[in-house]
Amino acid sequence: MTRPAIARIALNRPLRRLFDYLIPDGLELAPGQRVTVPFGRQTLTGLVVEIGVEPPPGVNLKAIKGTLESWPALPDNTFNLLTWASDYYQHPMGECLFTALPPALRRGRPAQEKADESWHPATTEAALPANAHRQVALFNAIKESPGISSSALVKSGFSRAQIRNLQQKKLIAEGAKAVTAPATKDLPAPTLSAAQQAASAQMPEHTHEFSATLLYGITGSGKTELYLHYLKTHLKANEQALVLVPEINLTPQTLARFRRYFGDRIQVWHSALNDGERLNTWLKIRNGEPVILIGTRSAVLLPFSHLRTIIVDEEHDSSYKQGEGFRYSGRDVAVYRAHLNRCPVILGSATPSLESWHNAQQGKYQLIRLEERAGNAKPPQLELLDIRSRPLEAGLSRPTLNSIKETLARGEQALVFVNRRGFAPVMMCFDCGHLEECPRCDTRLTYHRRDHAMRCHHCDYQMAASHTCPKCQSENYKPVGQGTERTEDTLAEHFPDMPIVRVDRDSTQRKGSIQAILKRVNTGEPCILVGTQMLAKGHDFPNVTLVCVVNADGGLFSVDFRAPEQMIQTLLQVSGRAGRGDKPGKVLIQTCHSDHPLLTNLCRCNYAAIADQLLAERETGALPPYRAMAIVRAEADTMQNSLQLLDTLKPMAQSPGIEIWGPLPAVIARKADRHRAQLILCSDSRSHLNRVLTQLCQHLDQARLPSSTRWVVDVDPQETG
Ligand code: ADP
Ligand code: ZN
Ligand code: ZN
Repeated sequence: MTRPAIARIALNRPLRRLFDYLIPDGLELAPGQRVTVPFGRQTLTGLVVEIGVEPPPGVNLKAIKGTLESWPALPDNTFNLLTWASDYYQHPMGECLFTALPPALRRGRPAQEKADESWHPATTEAALPANAHRQVALFNAIKESPGISSSALVKSGFSRAQIRNLQQKKLIAEGAKAVTAPATKDLPAPTLSAAQQAASAQMPEHTHEFSATLLYGITGSGKTELYLHYLKTHLKANEQALVLVPEINLTPQTLARFRRYFGDRIQVWHSALNDGERLNTWLKIRNGEPVILIGTRSAVLLPFSHLRTIIVDEEHDSSYKQGEGFRYSGRDVAVYRAHLNRCPVILGSATPSLESWHNAQQGKYQLIRLEERAGNAKPPQLELLDIRSRPLEAGLSRPTLNSIKETLARGEQALVFVNRRGFAPVMMCFDCGHLEECPRCDTRLTYHRRDHAMRCHHCDYQMAASHTCPKCQSENYKPVGQGTERTEDTLAEHFPDMPIVRVDRDSTQRKGSIQAILKRVNTGEPCILVGTQMLAKGHDFPNVTLVCVVNADGGLFSVDFRAPEQMIQTLLQVSGRAGRGDKPGKVLIQTCHSDHPLLTNLCRCNYAAIADQLLAERETGALPPYRAMAIVRAEADTMQNSLQLLDTLKPMAQSPGIEIWGPLPAVIARKADRHRAQLILCSDSRSHLNRVLTQLCQHLDQARLPSSTRWVVDVDPQETG
């Protein structure tokens, strides 16, 4: 008697196991295919992992109810990538696989594209009032390309409401097959500079072989132009490419440049897409349409079938590492994906991660250097300004304010960068020294001037700030440290006639607000930009000639081994916003440690030398990238429970070749009333570390833990606090 065929199914659950089901007669299945299965009293969507496995003896299995489509939602290469990532990052396979599906398909919706309506003119001439400029423009756009789709119109800047409006006026009608907008013709592509040409000549030639290239190009050297050029010359009309970027909404200019070259072939993928848009884009990729996808982190997991090039822009950016759940690094997965797909991956940055720098030095990655700015731009001049015992106003020294004044007087723009990391404004009592702490975390509350409130940036706790010291009732209770708001206020007092544009999380939360901000800055009119980390990311403001760094010292003495690297990267990136146009740029860095070697090296603008120095320190400390690292984090009602849990793991982890640090309380030992501890594991052998972690996870899965105790494994952690 033949045994019944069974399939092993992954469910979207945080469980480190798969579920066996009988395959009904006649049902054809392939790995990666979506099925519906009974689960308890529910029906769930599952993904086939294996077929024809032996059923465990004596177990009564339920049968698969049916398939959702006849083809695998996750084709081979994507499926293999995700199963690899599940093992590498020690994350449950079901959750990894489901990450690659759009939300609609995770919920078991059919994989059908929502029709994108197309439009043609319903009259030859539209009788529209002469002042209805947008409507006239919209009508003309449809007249010029009959059959144009709503999404193409929206991309050209029209709104769906405007389209509806013309439809209601019976000036346009639905119909005709959608045509895709071609790339803007006759765009004079800039001739590559000599330095760009030299770099271009070294780019990987074959799109059917694996190669990893690190493009180390200083800020403003024209890396984006090189990517465009590369894709234009190497990508065939039927091939797919992926361009990963850290945060898509912050750099609409970059997107516009890609669209100018490639028109509708450019698709985007980021967290602000709605479910319908996600499904549509996902289907285009799954159907093998020749898209060039510009996307954030999770785009690397999509089911491409003709992927021939991967570009990771700003590859050093820490937002490539997912901070919760499936803690993968989009950059590292991209490299593995290129390896699986046998295609080139190009990592670009002005401040490469030490991981990539190390790989380049080891010869694992090809290194291309581009050390001249494109066009007429010159690298900015960096200057350290020691602020010890200088009077400060909201963190700004006299010389800094003077430089801003001179810049504005020349009709140019100034950028004031407030390093948020490690510095937050707090209320302090100047009599007793009292600092208000979060009642639920081991952190200080941050003071927000706008609404005179105190907030915890870790748990969202908030309270009204009092006017007197809560401890000694002194009235000498004032904000210290600097946030963007205080700096903005002080600048407004000094420069009452100048527009001040604040760019931080709060001011850019609304959809489209960053676009409005950038538009304003790009008029080139004198103004002061004030902002945090967001200002450091890839913007191209040609008229910014002065960058002031309010305080550079955040990362110098942090406990986190990555802090100096991140500090230098941020400072160089923000410095890179100065002098990108024809006028030279200057950067003033306020610090209390003007003799620190990292900062003096920074002023020579030599990232390569700094990276070498930081790598040497990592080697001495036997830290990544010289060894593999993973952290097991635990949190519980009491610190004792957290530490105890990690203590039980220690003997299991102990083996030759594994070094263990801890367990220790985390730097922020209490967060939202949860007590957090960590166990750090290091090893020369990644595979050995991986095996040990697998055992620990198996043990933890089976251990009977108090219901409020949680644990996670973080492989290649970005933060060790
Ligand atoms: P990066 O990505 O390295 O910071 P970009 O590609 O954004 O640099 O280029 C910086 C600026 O220089 C942009 O305004 C871009 O249009 C311009 N640029 C790039 N390449 C050239 C070139 N070959 N000739 C003239 N301008 C260029
Ligand atoms: Zn808190
Ligand atoms: Zn006090």
